[in-house]
Amino acid sequence: MTDVPASHPRYASLRTRDAIVAGVEAGVTSIHGLIAHGRGEAFDYLLGERTRGFAHEAIDAAAAMLATAVRPVVSVNGNAAALVPGELAALAAALDAPVEVNVFHASKERERAIREHLLAHGAREVLMPTGHAVLDHLDSNRRFVHPDGIGAADVVFVPLEDGDRCRALVRSGRRVIVVDLNPMSRTSRTATITIVDDVTRAMPVLLERVAAHRGHAGAARAALGRYDNARVLQAAETAVRTG
Ligand code: ATP
Repeated sequence: MTDVPASHPRYASLRTRDAIVAGVEAGVTSIHGLIAHGRGEAFDYLLGERTRGFAHEAIDAAAAMLATAVRPVVSVNGNAAALVPGELAALAAALDAPVEVNVFHASKERERAIREHLLAHGAREVLMPTGHAVLDHLDSNRRFVHPDGIGAADVVFVPLEDGDRCRALVRSGRRVIVVDLNPMSRTSRTATITIVDDVTRAMPVLLERVAAHRGHAGAARAALGRYDNARVLQAAETAVRTG
């Protein structure tokens, strides 16, 4: 870890940077992931580097959707694996769902490294993309999915998604929950539920809310019925523009 005291005002941000750099060094994260992270940091700076009310609202709806899903799946790329591997494993365990590896920049070696990394952080079942199931309306490497994972899922939780695949997942009839600090990205605008927050802050809150919604399907569905993603996105965009 960079030699920075915990009292430093940018301590959390610097620790997160270190985690991404360590992910690149371990072969888990693509070097392009550094740029994606930088874009996220810029939005987080504008949002005051805290979980805002609109994010809490989206996290609660996401937890309700995941807790009442029939076949939820946790889809993981190299940045998410570097930043929150234990939390992703814990979410999958709480939902009795598989984790599935899905990366934008094609590399079998990196996909395997992500799988090993997740298993080392407690994931029980980590599925890999296959040639047997493919998402329509998508040309990138991310179209390959596992038939028993994303291929069969009704709800996909994808912490850091790209716009094209988000659209392809939604067009396939799946409900898609994303975490994206940019409320104006194509991903944010296309997802069923958009959590505008840093993934390292959002995950612990999501785990708490999933635990609260489990076993209370009626109340969870009612909460989902009241949720309005367009309004949440508008509130997030206003926060970015006005502070
Ligand atoms: P889109 O294809 O959705 O329009 P993009 O091309 O603008 O997205 P990418 O480069 O694919 O963006 O990915 C970076 C996205 O991930 C940015 O929107 C950024 O805000 C978000 N992001 C990066 N790091 C984090 C993080 N730690 N937590 C939440 N979001 C993040």
